[in-house]
Amino acid sequence: MVYEILRKYGIRGGYHDQHFLIDERILDRIVDAADIKPHETVLEIGAGIGNLTERLMAKAGHVIAIERDPELIFVLKDRFGEPENFTLIHGDVLEVDLPPFDKVVANLPYSISSEITFKLFKYDFKLAILMYQYEFAQRLVAHANSKDYSRLSVNAHYFADTSMIMKIPRGAFSPPPEVLSAVVEIKPRPAHFEVLEEKYFLDFVTAVFGQRRKKMRNSILRNKQLLGIDDMKDFINELPQELLDKRPENLEPEQFAELANIMFRHKEK
Ligand code: SAM
Repeated sequence: MVYEILRKYGIRGGYHDQHFLIDERILDRIVDAADIKPHETVLEIGAGIGNLTERLMAKAGHVIAIERDPELIFVLKDRFGEPENFTLIHGDVLEVDLPPFDKVVANLPYSISSEITFKLFKYDFKLAILMYQYEFAQRLVAHANSKDYSRLSVNAHYFADTSMIMKIPRGAFSPPPEVLSAVVEIKPRPAHFEVLEEKYFLDFVTAVFGQRRKKMRNSILRNKQLLGIDDMKDFINELPQELLDKRPENLEPEQFAELANIMFRHKEK
């Protein structure tokens, strides 16, 4: 069926470097994972030729699909028309204001995975089922003390519970990409720990992971300007010393918050 759509609209392998998901079983499993209820509004980012979209429309109360490519917009309009339960937005997901939605299900454009994920964290929604490049997915769900633990992991743990639910082989796409893919479940929730100032916390995490092999003490001293603390050389002795001797990859998200909160309080004095 998906092959027929590709053929009908003359979309060939390598079209604009996009890889369309054509494995019907995997498409069904992704939609099942979202557990969509008839009253829910589902957002799809990068609807492509509509292979996920048609499945979402069969389950959701409303589907909002965003697609940047004018030729694919033509395909989507031709396939689905303008039913009441479908809103098609022609635009760049990073530029448009997203309308309210309950869930987001998408096979993302991998080159902007990070930007899209952080944009989504600014919105209020229940669940995301998103396909990423496998290595990105690993970093998103990683926990402290693993090689994949990164700024992305700490941010994700601050905003949501995340887990990898499926690894997807190359052959599930047309054309098969060079990279492996994985589907991640993201459930937003309030943070498990207190953060006095969100931007300060997030900037701090970004700064120290910029030097992930360095001990926290050195990274904090190097970033004293960004952290807004002129007397850092003295003040650093007031921070929990056992955390300063660790590297960023060995700190739990709440330990980053503990350090950021103490520094923020001092900066604001
Ligand atoms: N959903 C389809 C599927 O699963 O086969 C297509 C997925 S394909 C990996 C990504 C889609 O995102 C393409 O259709 C591409 O045109 C679209 N896209 C890429 N960058 C975009 C952006 N910045 N905003 C909106 N759509 C974008």
